[in-house]
Amino acid sequence: MTLTVLRNARLFDGFAEELHEPIDIVIEGNRIREVVDGQAPPLEAIEVDVGGRTILPGLIDAHVHLMAVHLRAANNLDYPLTLMTAKALPRIKAMLDRGFTTVRDVAGADFGIRQALEEGLIIGPRAFVGGPGLTQTGGHADHRRRTDSRLDIDRNANGVDWFARIVDGPEAMRQAVRDELRKGADHIKLMASGGVGSPNDSIDDYQFSEEEIRMAADECAMRGSYVVAHTYGSTAVQRAVKNGVRTVEHCNLIDEETAAVVRDHDAFVVPTLVCYETTEKHGDELGLSPYVMSKLRYVNDAGIKMLEICERAGTRMGFGTDLMGEMEFAQSHEFVIRARVQKPIDVLRSATSVNAEILKKSGELGTVAPGALADLVVVDGNPLADISLLDGQGENLPLILKDGRLYKNDLPTRQAEGVSRAVHSMAS
Ligand SMILES: [Zn+2]
Repeated sequence: MTLTVLRNARLFDGFAEELHEPIDIVIEGNRIREVVDGQAPPLEAIEVDVGGRTILPGLIDAHVHLMAVHLRAANNLDYPLTLMTAKALPRIKAMLDRGFTTVRDVAGADFGIRQALEEGLIIGPRAFVGGPGLTQTGGHADHRRRTDSRLDIDRNANGVDWFARIVDGPEAMRQAVRDELRKGADHIKLMASGGVGSPNDSIDDYQFSEEEIRMAADECAMRGSYVVAHTYGSTAVQRAVKNGVRTVEHCNLIDEETAAVVRDHDAFVVPTLVCYETTEKHGDELGLSPYVMSKLRYVNDAGIKMLEICERAGTRMGFGTDLMGEMEFAQSHEFVIRARVQKPIDVLRSATSVNAEILKKSGELGTVAPGALADLVVVDGNPLADISLLDGQGENLPLILKDGRLYKNDLPTRQAEGVSRAVHSMAS
């Protein structure tokens, strides 16, 4: 099996308070074989001189929509799946360029995209997918117009809406969850409150009955899966986590008591602040309605306060972005926004080890340790001192390694004789 050695690095391992240095990392196949304090012995390997730069575990974004090629959700429904997929490919690749070696898709992507990424047919991060988000009639992801009076249309089966499936009632929920898990979902997304982009509901609404939420959580638990819920306000968040939801997304409007309830239920808040800031900046020119813009301002203003509330309560926070369509370029600006409240190392933990725990992949993803999957990013500089090094489109990331393969490498590299670089390079 091919060996790769990264030499002379500083390391953030996903957890520790301090950077380790100098270290060498030995990679065998797609796993990390060894993290060596000091120097690894000479090896028949591809040798990369990291030159004292910082190595991070590959970054994880726990809230993306790979297939949301248009900012306005309803506009995505104008595309056939073929065209939507073609339009999605460059944005999926761009996420890997920014150092995200793993993403969790929370409405839109299915097992087909996951498998195409696994097989290397398309270039991008590893993907954990949930299929369509489940929404109640009139809920956040019920994309029908008010003039559409048709009932009971299975929009997903008809290929009408890849982002949402309308579900009403506990028994219908049981069937929908079982069906999406059958179709390869890693997790199930519930729309448990009103949202910004939905023209017919209010942010403060809470959605789905408690019986429906509990049914989804129970069915997921039976399969080792879990529920992700879209939620903004305290009532929606509390109803979600008290009924078994594992991650509550956005959460901009929660109060102190609710942050404590999330903490006490071993659940996670996944903030997605960059989407509000970026979309508010560009929404008018992209034709968002005044009502949607007013909702945006409402949640954007509350976002930073939510970070402070969660920090004070000791609520665990993952890392997400939720950028749709044209806004996706801003993905890594989430690091900068989070660092307005949190220590850079805590933001990095969110995007590595905490997100890995959310994915139930602790030890495999989000860390640099023997046995972990070899997903690594080299940063030119110290992101603990300046987290904005991660912002942008990967300009400060000279090396990105995914699944043991050098996706990008601008560093001095030597190749021992007999080691085939071709089999080891994913970009070629
Ligand atoms: Zn979302």
